[in-house]
Amino acid sequence: MLTASFYVGMARWRMSLDAITTLLVHRLEAQPTRITAILTPSYGVTMRRRSMLWPQHLHVAQKGCCFWCDQPLPLSRATIEHVIPQGEDGWPQLTRMEQLLSLRLSHATCNRDYAAWRAAQPADELQRMDQQLVRGIRQNIHVHPILRVYSYHHDYPGGREAQERMRR
Ligand SMILES: [Zn+2]
Repeated sequence: MLTASFYVGMARWRMSLDAITTLLVHRLEAQPTRITAILTPSYGVTMRRRSMLWPQHLHVAQKGCCFWCDQPLPLSRATIEHVIPQGEDGWPQLTRMEQLLSLRLSHATCNRDYAAWRAAQPADELQRMDQQLVRGIRQNIHVHPILRVYSYHHDYPGGREAQERMRR
């Protein structure tokens, strides 16, 4: 069985997803050109600028706090937390929108602790948790038609530069 410390329960995941997508839907409706830059890979925005837009969005949605410990987290010190790890089976099958909605901001130490926690958990249990998280993301997209429009793009959020810079 999974130990509890970093287990992402569905109630918590849904609450977090709601905060992110409510803000995202609001922004898509209010400022479509700005937010579209992070959702469509070839929008003519520099990679550097695009790689910061999503972390900024997450920072507001997370009320400036770390996803794991809920303590204040300045954006300048935030790391991108791949709650569903990039390297594993599920990630490449996610759309860009699904990938973006699976990301959170966390402290570097919390990020490392999560990776260590995962490394100590049974693989099949982790897979079950990840599948649940993906299901939650898909349900969340499904209730927002405007998000479905953007769900066709497949590539890595923020591009290679952001991956290298943000990865811990
Ligand atoms: Zn933290």
